[in-house]
Amino acid sequence: MIKVENLAKRFGGFYAVNNASLEIAKGSITGLIGPNGAGKTTLFNVIAGVHQPSAGRVLLDGEDITGLPPHSLFDRGLLRTFQIAHEFSTMTVRENLMMVPPDQAGERLWDAWFKPALVRSQEAEIRKKADEVIEFLEISHVADELAGNLSGGQKKLLELGRTMMVDAKIVFLDEVGAGVNRTLLNTIGDAILRLNKERGYTFCMIEHDMDFIGRLCDPVIVMAEGTVLAEGSIDEIKANEQVIEAYLGT
Ligand code: ADP
Repeated sequence: MIKVENLAKRFGGFYAVNNASLEIAKGSITGLIGPNGAGKTTLFNVIAGVHQPSAGRVLLDGEDITGLPPHSLFDRGLLRTFQIAHEFSTMTVRENLMMVPPDQAGERLWDAWFKPALVRSQEAEIRKKADEVIEFLEISHVADELAGNLSGGQKKLLELGRTMMVDAKIVFLDEVGAGVNRTLLNTIGDAILRLNKERGYTFCMIEHDMDFIGRLCDPVIVMAEGTVLAEGSIDEIKANEQVIEAYLGT
């Protein structure tokens, strides 16, 4: 589904991503791991249109999407989760879902919100969709809670929920498990697996928690020093000496 060819991203004289090539298969939950500073977030940001690459190409289902802005990628079903922005923390969970932010939502939902005539015709539909998402993620008990009052893990579920307000094909998750307690981590993991199996979402996720990766991801891609070091199942990766060295070296 995604093909990254010889991608590079330079900041000043420093290559954060350097000649990275990888593929993400349709229907997979692909893990992206590597020591701090390996270039994982930068790679995500280039794929998701946040940064322009210095070199290389990104293809989505064979179409060259290199350097397209986030809203164009959004229209093609490619989404990256973002932390709930400060200004959304004083809105409820349901309202947050109903107002997928403009940089992710493309024009449509956002326009609908601000054009009263459209809102009247579409609000019921948007609300219904939000309620479906709330039910799917089993967060009905916090649907009317302010997003700012949610726990870290619940915020991550809400971030995931926002990708469900539109028909995402592939979702990039950046450390969705970071700082989340075990119970909620399992809930988030279950939601990801169900989205993958029941809705056909493809995922690519940066993650540090090896148990979480082991449960969800196949294959796992390892980055180090801006490039791809290895790819395989979690067991192959754990046994790979180059990978062990890369981690020990930091
Ligand atoms: P990872 O996500 O694997 O920890 P990053 O992609 O965040 O790695 O960072 C890779 C390298 O690029 C790091 O050395 C980081 O300091 C550098 N870097 C990331 N973003 C920028 C930026 N905007 N300007 C300069 N250097 C950056």
